[in-house]
Parts: sequence; C-alpha cells; structure tokens
Amino acid sequence: MAGKQVVFHIGGWSSCGFYNKAASVLASLSVLFPSRLRVVNHMYGSRDEYRSWLLGEDETNGFRDTFAGVSKANKQTSSPFSWIEADGSNNFVGGCDDTLDWCKSFVSPAGDSGKAKSKMQADGHTADHGYDYDLVVIGGGSGGLAASKEAARFGAKVAVLDFVKPSPAGSTWGLGGTCVNVGCIPKKLMHNAALIGEILTNDVQPYGFTAPEQTEGHKWESMRESVQNHIRGLNFNYRVTLREKNVTYLNKLGKFIDAHTLELTDKKGKVSQLTSSRFIVATGGRPTTLDCEGGEHAITSDDIFSLEKSPGKTLCVGASYISLECAGFLAGLGLDTTIAVRSILLRGFDREIADKIGAHMEDHGVKFKNGVVPSKLEKASDGKITVTFSDGSSDVYDTVLTAIGRRADTEKLGVDAVGVKTNPKNGKIVCTDEQTSVSNIYAIGDVMEGCPELTPVAIQAGKMLSRRLFDGSDEPMDYQNICTTVFTPLEYGVVGMSEEDAKAASGCGSKIEVYHSNFTPLEWSLSEHRQKHPAFCKVIVSKDDDRVLGMHYLGPHAGEVTQGFGVSMKKGMTFDELTNTVGIHPTSAETFTDLTITKSSGESADSKGC
Ligand code: FAD
Ligand code: NAP
Repeated sequence: MAGKQVVFHIGGWSSCGFYNKAASVLASLSVLFPSRLRVVNHMYGSRDEYRSWLLGEDETNGFRDTFAGVSKANKQTSSPFSWIEADGSNNFVGGCDDTLDWCKSFVSPAGDSGKAKSKMQADGHTADHGYDYDLVVIGGGSGGLAASKEAARFGAKVAVLDFVKPSPAGSTWGLGGTCVNVGCIPKKLMHNAALIGEILTNDVQPYGFTAPEQTEGHKWESMRESVQNHIRGLNFNYRVTLREKNVTYLNKLGKFIDAHTLELTDKKGKVSQLTSSRFIVATGGRPTTLDCEGGEHAITSDDIFSLEKSPGKTLCVGASYISLECAGFLAGLGLDTTIAVRSILLRGFDREIADKIGAHMEDHGVKFKNGVVPSKLEKASDGKITVTFSDGSSDVYDTVLTAIGRRADTEKLGVDAVGVKTNPKNGKIVCTDEQTSVSNIYAIGDVMEGCPELTPVAIQAGKMLSRRLFDGSDEPMDYQNICTTVFTPLEYGVVGMSEEDAKAASGCGSKIEVYHSNFTPLEWSLSEHRQKHPAFCKVIVSKDDDRVLGMHYLGPHAGEVTQGFGVSMKKGMTFDELTNTVGIHPTSAETFTDLTITKSSGESADSKGC
C-alpha cells in the first residue's frame, strides 16, 4: 500500500538503554519499509547534553517547549523524546513505550498507519498566549463537562460556563445540561417506573406473589420528587468534581464579542468579559416549539419531568425517540395517552422494527392519530386544552407535549458575528473534526452539524478533542457504528445499518442476507400477556465479505444487550465470528450467537426454545 512517508524523530543520549531500544526498533522498521518510514536520530553524547537540548538552560526554553500547549511533551524530562514531522509541524509521540506502541501499530494491519488522522488546522495557540484561559468551554452539559475536565487533566487552565435559559413554560434546572436534567436520566427513571408498574400488574402472580390492589394507582408526585432529588444530587456532584479537577465553573451566559473574547451575563444581569486562547462551543439544543395557533399552550421535554402534578390525559406530538419514549412511560403509568404522527414512526430506523414498536405500543394502551398535525390549541379556564387537528378532528387534553425535534442553541451566542459558519436551517455549527470555520473555536455534541444527538457521543467527542488540543493526539472522533437504544415499552437497541439502508448501500437487496428470530425471553415465559409481542433480533450481513452491517434487538434490557456488540461492530465483525461466539445461557443476547434462519428462506423466524 503506497502511503505518505512518515518522518519520525527520536532524541536521546547515546548510552541510554531506553533510547537505544526504541531507536533500534525504529531503525529496523525503516530498513524494512523505506518508502513508508524515515527515521531522524538526535543523539547526544551525554545525559547533560541531552537535557540541556530538551529542557533548555533554565528548564523553560528547551526543545520540548516548542510543543506549545502539549502538557505531556512540556513535562517530559526522560530519554528518548519522540515526535513525527508532518506538513511543517511536529506532533509529539512520547517516550520509549509510546515509541514502541507506535511501532507496533505501524506494522499491524489495522494499526495506526491505516487509521484516519485528524484534519484539524493549527489554531495559533502558544504557551505564552496571554489570554485569561487556555480553554473556555461554553455549555456545561454532557460534552462540555467531559471536554473541560479532560483538558484540565493535561494541565490546561480551563473554565466552563453553564447557564440555563428558562423554557417558555418557565422550567429551569441545574448544572449538567439536557441529559441529566431534562433528558436521558429523568426519562429512563420514568420509563423504569412504567416497567415496574407492568411487572407489578402483570408478571408477579405466576412467580407466587400477589398483585397489589390497583385502587391507589401510581403517584406522580412521589415519582417526580424522587427523580428530581436524584437530579439535584447529580447537579451537586458535577460542581464538586469540577472544583476537584481544577476547572473554574461560571454560572453565566456567554456571547462572543470576538474570536478570543466572551461577554458574560450572570443571573442578576451583571455583565463582564473574559478572554481565552481556545473555545469549545457545547451549548447543545432546545426543543422546537409548536408553530400553530395556541402552540404556546404546549409543553416540551424541558418541562414534563418536573411537572408538579400528573400530566393527565396527554397528547404527544411527534413520532420519534422523545415522543414515543414519553408516550410509552405515560401510558405505562396509567395515563390516557395519544401520539399525533405526522408521517411515520421513528424515521431513519429499521422499518420492520418501527412497525413492531408501533403495534406493541398500541396494545400497551397508546392511541395513535396518524397523518395529522395539530392546527390549533385552545386553553380553557379549567386548564384543559382543545386540540384541532389538520384533518378537522378535535379532542380535549390535560397536557400537550411537543416533541418535534430540537434546534441548536446558538441564536444569541454571537457565533455568526465572529465568522463561525452555521446551518441556517437548524442553527448547528459546521465543523471539520470539531473545528469550526474560525480555527480557535471548536464545537462538540448536539450543537455540531452532523453529530448524532446522544450523550455518549458528546462525551467522547469532547474528550478526544481535548486530547488533540492539549495532549498531542491526532486521533479524530469516529462517528461510525454508534449504538443507541430507544426506551419505548418494548426497548429497541441498534448498532449499524437498517435493512433499508443496507439494501440501498449494496446497490441491490441480493447482496445482503438477513438473519432473524422471534423469541420469548425466559423472564417473560411465565406471563401470558407477554406472548403476543415476542422479543426479536435481526442481523444484516453482507454476502460479499460476511461482514455484519447491522444488529437490531427488540426486547428487555436492550441498551445492555446492544452495548457489548458495539465493540465487535467497530472491529468489523463477520457473521461467522458472531455465530462462533459461545453464548451465555439463558439470556436474550445469546440469540444473536444462534441465528440460522434467513429472511430469504421464507422459513418462520419463531424460535423453538433452547
Ligand atoms: P447539553 O447537554 O444540551 O448541554 C448544553 C448546556 O449549555 C446546557 O446546560 C445549556 O443550558 C448550556 N448553554 C447553552 N447556551 C449557553 C450559553 N450561551 N452560555 C452558557 N451556557 C449555555 N441521549 C442518549 O444518549 N440517551 C438517551 O436516553 C437520551 N434521552 C434523551 C431524552 C430527552 C427527552 C432528550 C431531550 C434528549 C435525550 N438524549 C439522550 C440526548 C442527550 O440528552 C443529548 O444528546 C446530550 O445532552 C447533548 O449534550 P451536549 O453537551 O451537546 O448539550
Ligand atoms: P427527531 O428525532 O428530530 O424527530 C422529530 C419528530 O417530530 C419526527 O417524528 C418528525 O416527523 C416530527 N415532526 C417534526 N416537525 C413536526 C411538526 N411540525 N409537526 C408534527 N410533527 C413533526 O426529534 P426528537 O424525538 O425530538 O429527538 C431529538 C434527538 O434527541 C434525537 O435525534 C435523539 O438523537 C435524541 N434522543 C435520544 C434518545 C435516546 O437515545 N434514547 C431519546 C430521546 C432523544 P417526520 O418523520 O414526519 O419528520
């Protein structure tokens, strides 16, 4: 494989064992692969000579200080000291172990030499920049907290700003962003409340317990209080951790004045300024509001989890993750729940699975109004909301929950004014490897164009960016094969392509094979009501090279089941490798290792037991 020649530099002193070991491995590789590797040796006659080159006279102006902001390089005193010369700049590698690791990956087929490298451009950061901070992160959500703590770990002087603008309905919350306060965490806890309800009502009797009397039903207020207390605990822990990790937390709203200056406004409206060499924008997104007459009477996911009273009879508008998950737990808690579906359920996901989720939800008590959008909302003096739909029909609800997508929170951030390119349709920031069109301003998480709106994605992108900015890494974030789970009453975990996408990517359906199985998880097998909608898994395989293109799982603990397979998918697992893996019995996940029935065979996918 012809590639660009790597110019690898190694410095050390002549009788240093570590230097000699690393230098000799490099020398051998450059003999074996002369077109791919050139090694430049910087050998000094004595330890003192080496140290005066590396550290400088007063330990401030040595060669290592040319790696501005790379804390690991700036702190290194030992021999050897290695770096790679690329496009006029030097990328720090490390000492002996790092050099040997680099050599291993250079020769391994899937190693570093074949890995993508970040395309980030130099951003002018120097060790003596003179700004207040090395890095200021705007937004203390999943991505911002992760990025700021990681940068501080490498010795950078970091501040993180987090300020919550109240929702139109007046809801506000603490440090931690969407996931912790108004997203994943309260959603999963309320989903769990509904699952507990289902077990109590339908599953306990065959196990010898007596089902509780249903006279009292579910107490929203008690659930809300425990969920909100848990969140407050998390908010507190985030503040403590920031302090422990030497990250300055500022509860202020940030706005760019120029590429190195922010205007800060606190809760009382007091305005100040700060400067920084680098910025990471991690301001996330906010729910899109309903654009119809009376749309202001609807609430969003920013409000639902902290409602003082049960939402009662609820209309959920939208048919993707948020609407389906909320409708699922509301119905599970015994509330009269309807979903208004504009077009299809779960756009972008596997259609067969989306249909199964819809059918299960319908049997679970969720009503669907298909092919409609609200055209008018009227609120009466008793608080009830009459909704008129686009097909002319109408109904009265206690609560209307809008979940029709999210818009990046960049409107008042001043990014456009400093030259950061955004997508006018959704306000998201356009980036290459998280670097915006202004080189010292970066963006991660929900606010970045093309980033899947998921917490672990924001966290991983934030950590990797900080490693590139302050620890000499050149590894870009990999947005491929990210696992996700939709927490509908029948949970859905997925990694890789849908059947439709795999067919489209292969040019024609005949190049893929689909293996599938309907099965009853053991824990469901004693409950009659569970039999109508079995669990399901399917694996989509390329006929060309046996690679698994997509894995889909519908059933209990979908997140737990799917997460492990995510590693295998990143490693390019084949179907043969999957089915050669010994399963864990009796589990649902083992079904993946035991798939034999293909869709093309036309045989029933129903499992016959173990
Ligand atoms: P955020 O977490 O949104 O953080 C941005 C922060 O910046 C906020 O605190 C905001 O107040 C602050 N901010 C904004 N502007 C400024 C400014 N100018 N100055 C200072 N601070 C500012 N993902 C999953 O992976 N799993 C799930 O189960 C899941 N469930 C979800 C359920 C719901 C209801 C929702 C809404 C989302 C869910 N998500 C889930 C998505 C997940 O919450 C987001 O992808 C994640 O929180 C994005 O993190 P972020 O750091 O990009 O932004
Ligand atoms: P979304 O995935 O963007 O879907 C928006 C939904 O609203 C679609 O069903 C869309 O229908 C519908 N819609 C859009 N405009 C509408 C309008 N004017 N009237 C009626 N319906 C309309 O949005 P989301 O569900 O709000 O979720 C946002 C993101 O949060 C997700 O992409 C996801 O990444 C993240 N999230 C993740 C999880 C999880 O990991 N479990 C949970 C919740 C949220 P069409 O199909 O017709 O366009």
